Amino acid sequence: MEIFHISAECYPMAKVGGLADVVGALPKYQTNAGHNVRVVVPAYDTKFKKENQFECVHWGSVKLGSFNFPFSVLKESTDVLGYELYLIEINELFDRPNVYGYEDDIERFLSFQIAALDWIIARNEVPDVINCHDHHTGLIPFLTQFAYKYEKLKDLKTVITIHNGLYQGWFGFDKLHYLPEFDLKHVGFLEWNNSINSLAVAVKCAQAVTTVSPSYLNEINYAANGLENLFNSVRNKSKGILNGIDIEVWNPLKDKMIAENYSIENFEIGKQKNKEKLCEQFELDPSKPLFSFIGRLFEEKGGDLLPQASALALSENFENINILILGSGNSEIESQLTQLRNDYKGNYNVFIGYNEELAHLIYAGSDYILMPSRVEPCGLNQMYAMRYGTIPIVRRTGGLRDTVIDFGDEGNGICHDQASVGDICYSINRAVKLYDDKISFNKVLKRGMEADHSWESVCQDYIEIYNLIIEKNEI
Ligand code: ADP
Repeated sequence: MEIFHISAECYPMAKVGGLADVVGALPKYQTNAGHNVRVVVPAYDTKFKKENQFECVHWGSVKLGSFNFPFSVLKESTDVLGYELYLIEINELFDRPNVYGYEDDIERFLSFQIAALDWIIARNEVPDVINCHDHHTGLIPFLTQFAYKYEKLKDLKTVITIHNGLYQGWFGFDKLHYLPEFDLKHVGFLEWNNSINSLAVAVKCAQAVTTVSPSYLNEINYAANGLENLFNSVRNKSKGILNGIDIEVWNPLKDKMIAENYSIENFEIGKQKNKEKLCEQFELDPSKPLFSFIGRLFEEKGGDLLPQASALALSENFENINILILGSGNSEIESQLTQLRNDYKGNYNVFIGYNEELAHLIYAGSDYILMPSRVEPCGLNQMYAMRYGTIPIVRRTGGLRDTVIDFGDEGNGICHDQASVGDICYSINRAVKLYDDKISFNKVLKRGMEADHSWESVCQDYIEIYNLIIEKNEI
């Protein structure tokens, strides 16, 4: 089967969060399973782009209203990632360091989608399926069916995978003329709440909707930033598939970014060495339990709860614990977290920014990973943490509910229900007690390390959906 994944992110070409990890890994496992898989992302000015070789396989020009943007399609020459990676190069729009956050993001991702389809239609064969990811590629299921110039793709099957339903890519009907011409009787597919809503378009037009965990599929029926009714109405073509992790990239036995490699056989000594390195770097005490957080510092991640929860936990348990935070996002949260460094020197530290290498060391060297999320469509951190023998402390929501079971129920982590400072501190207290009981602590840790979250076992679920929509046009 020929499968296209079209996405704004793909690790290691361009990563902001979990979307990149998924689009960087799932295609590799689908390729290993015998499929022809191609991944298409914009050609941002990233380290990966600079350090790898590409050949131009197509060029053209995207018309966006009265603007014309020349574009090229670049293929990574060596298939170093285990699948074919293509970059859509539109210099005026993507020759910038960041993935998102520009005033013209709507124009950028519209041009990206149009250029990708222009190229696909210029090839000889029509693929079997396009798997779109999040709102940045949400117009593709509409354009393939209704835009005159993509007539040849009319019967091509599309899937939208929702990694985060909070972000939807709205824009006004004043930009309708940016889209390639289509029969106006279909304009209703574009509309949600008087705007063009890219995610809603995809949900309406794709043959299948997947979310990145089964629990998240249930949650978006009552909390989806205004799209709840729409998600309810498409339940019959929706499925929640829990993300896997790339066990080759995330392998404590081979990871080159950590201080000491280890496996379940020798995790105690291996983790201790990583912890010592981490504690030395951040002036913490390796004899105390280390609680870490890695992620975007926003309310959806419970980032706003971290400053107060850290202060409270450190004052209650002073001398007993370390807290280390790696992240960036809301500037108010960033400054509160930075301020705490003065108050709890020796027990607390923070790194504001994005640092892939440090993230690996933190997964390896911490005892606990904190995930107090309000919303967590799947969450990968808890799965990486468990693979590295770090016990997750999570709020039961979305994918965290599907992957972490409280140790009180013979599980692999510590769970609470409320996104509140009180619940986080209660869990930290339980964690300190568990840490002091080494036999029980190691039992919980090992259950996490033994779990199989690899894509190998999950990637077939996507193939089944593709097969169903190809054969029956429904799932
Ligand atoms: P998100 O909602 O951000 O996509 P996920 O849990 O699905 O959350 O994925 C987060 C991914 O991003 C993980 O690979 C995590 O290690 C990584 N990550 C998040 N913030 C940082 C950071 N500041 N530095 C390094 N890696 C980070």
